Amino acid sequence: MPSSTWLQVPHRRFNPLNRQWVLVSPHRTQRPWLGEVAKSEETPAIHYNPNCYLCPGNTRAGGHKNPQYDGVFVFDNDYAALLPDTPPITDLPQDDLFRAERERGICRVICFHPDHDLTLARMQTRDIERVVDAWTAQYRELGQQPEIRYVQIFENRGAMMGASNPHPHCQVWATEHVPDEPRMEQLTQKEYRDIHGTCMLCDTLQREIQLSQRIVCENEEFVALVPFWAVWPFETLVLSCRHVGSLAEMDQTQRAALAEILKQVTTRYDNLFEVSFPYTMGFHQSPTDSSPHPEWHFHAHFYPPLLRSATVRKYMVGFEMLGMPQRDITPESAAERLRGLSNLHYTLKQ
Ligand SMILES: [Zn+2]
Ligand SMILES: [Zn+2]
Ligand SMILES: [Zn+2]
Repeated sequence: MPSSTWLQVPHRRFNPLNRQWVLVSPHRTQRPWLGEVAKSEETPAIHYNPNCYLCPGNTRAGGHKNPQYDGVFVFDNDYAALLPDTPPITDLPQDDLFRAERERGICRVICFHPDHDLTLARMQTRDIERVVDAWTAQYRELGQQPEIRYVQIFENRGAMMGASNPHPHCQVWATEHVPDEPRMEQLTQKEYRDIHGTCMLCDTLQREIQLSQRIVCENEEFVALVPFWAVWPFETLVLSCRHVGSLAEMDQTQRAALAEILKQVTTRYDNLFEVSFPYTMGFHQSPTDSSPHPEWHFHAHFYPPLLRSATVRKYMVGFEMLGMPQRDITPESAAERLRGLSNLHYTLKQ
């Protein structure tokens, strides 16, 4: 454990990517815990669920029938939050107080695998490679459409994160405007590049490798670490070692390595509390607004809510809603715990 004094007293840390602060209160990890500590029940595996709208051969709401797919299956979301042909807003008087804009877009669902019971952590790496290829194809295809300026790929895993269906899948929301999170990251990466002449996340990665306090795992092409400014207890950031802006710029070696690092990260997460670990995961990559974006460095964020057991989660309430996010366990301790876990999924242990 690092013994620096500043790591033992309350402090706040700055995230240069989104320019937000997080309050770190390491001394609070001593406080007694009176909450729930129960372990969640394991449910028996169901490989095909006749009531699942994502399983092969089943009929979805709206009458569409899924094919008997045997790999990755992509379709337009039946309940899309965005539509491709929304008309412009002409009947709202716009002023400084009341502003609205048309937001056109496309929402898709990507099933990772026909097996209802699988997760990224328990899929074969070669099957995750097919998912990475599908993400790449979707980023390319949707990004090429002139009205699409950003392609957000994300996975909500687990009921705790509001995932409505456990079948392994993710969503793609492609939008007319760059949403706020990547828009801020674009601004900060661009300003960093203008000032320093280098890439913010390349520099971050180099420093993290030197310090080697917050690294969780790595392969030839990617490093997973708990960022200095992590908000969620076991939040991780997956950085490509090469400076690439998007999936479309990756070669086959990098895509395979991305599949491998995602399996490593999700396996360690599951092993932490021996439960299928809930999270929201997603990629941040170059906008598809037909401008070059040399400032963009491809990365994945994992935002998992669990704090101290399979059922005890962190809530963003009180001071966090009104002031700023706060954490007790330091990012360095979280990284140390994740680093110490096995790469072999707990369900495969003898
Ligand atoms: Zn299913
Ligand atoms: Zn970079
Ligand atoms: Zn990001």
